[in-house]
Amino acid sequence: MQNANSGKKPMGRLLKATIGVISIIVIVVLAGVVFQKQIFTFAATKIIKQRLLSQTHKKADGLYAGLAGTGAPFPDINRVGPCIVVEAGNNLYIIDAGQGSARNIGLMGFNIGKVDAILLTHFHSDHIADLGEMMIQHWAAGSNAKPVDVIGPKGVETVVAGFNHAYSLDAEYRVAFHGAATVPPSGAGGRARPFALSSEEDASIVVVDKEGVKITAFKVNHYPVYPAVGYRVDYKGRSLVISGDTVPCQSLKKQSQGVDVLLHEAQQPTMIKIIHDQAGLSPNPSLAKITADIPRYHTSPEDAAKIASETSVKHLVLYHILPPLPPLLNNMFLGDAAKYYKGPITVGVDGLLISLPANSNKISIKQILK
Ligand SMILES: [Zn+2]
Ligand SMILES: [Zn+2]
Repeated sequence: MQNANSGKKPMGRLLKATIGVISIIVIVVLAGVVFQKQIFTFAATKIIKQRLLSQTHKKADGLYAGLAGTGAPFPDINRVGPCIVVEAGNNLYIIDAGQGSARNIGLMGFNIGKVDAILLTHFHSDHIADLGEMMIQHWAAGSNAKPVDVIGPKGVETVVAGFNHAYSLDAEYRVAFHGAATVPPSGAGGRARPFALSSEEDASIVVVDKEGVKITAFKVNHYPVYPAVGYRVDYKGRSLVISGDTVPCQSLKKQSQGVDVLLHEAQQPTMIKIIHDQAGLSPNPSLAKITADIPRYHTSPEDAAKIASETSVKHLVLYHILPPLPPLLNNMFLGDAAKYYKGPITVGVDGLLISLPANSNKISIKQILK
């Protein structure tokens, strides 16, 4: 008898527990159905709060480079067009306006409305494509009464005038809809700030000198694109160089001596050669010619590594990645780069934030694109 009773009790308990669990599930599901709107509202508010707060989050004093775009003209699922956001103290700058980069800048928590100036390295389409979008956001997201400064070598006047013209109707619509107090008509568009470089091959000029931030433009060699420049940024003992598009050149080496981070463009010729050899499969009749041409005005990862070694930079970051690169092929892309440079090499991908705290030696890199 005892054995029979003790056999029924666990079964009874199991049944009760099962009913209990089912009841809880039913209650949760019913509550989910009844309070669906409230649950979604709670979740949406939480996400929106996080997104908005990320734009006002104050970083520790230092020099920061946000890789908003690390690609080039070819479509790459992991990379939009070239664009680097530079933050130093209370100052915010954008270097180049690659296609799709304005979206990434926002997603990374930077407010284009607070940008002090946009600096262009040259005027190939992959470096200016989002300029109009950035001008609009500087105005509408900042209620700025003055157009954003667009700094660049000679020719920047033509580019800015073209974007101003193309976006003039959009500006009219926004003033009519939001009102002049929110979007002051005087703040629409951009103001070209061209600079001139002397004829020397290694010519340079300081284009920003404000609150401890110094930005120096220097000539690079992207022939026949002329003038093309790179930028060096200095702030409170920290420094970085952004190459723009170039073949290896003395001027860049001169500016890169001992900097914390060299952000150098990179194109792997062996991979471009594979595309060239298979170009007949593409519906694009120009692909074979373009892939034969482009190695002549870019730098291989191996050559970028040699430059990093010669100039004793602390960290090499490759961007303007050509060709489009799935992460699995990073090692193939780097080729023999590690033989030439013993320091750390990062293959750039959109959303990386490089942090250089003021008056320190620390360099940290983390992914912040969410
Ligand atoms: Zn380019
Ligand atoms: Zn270019």
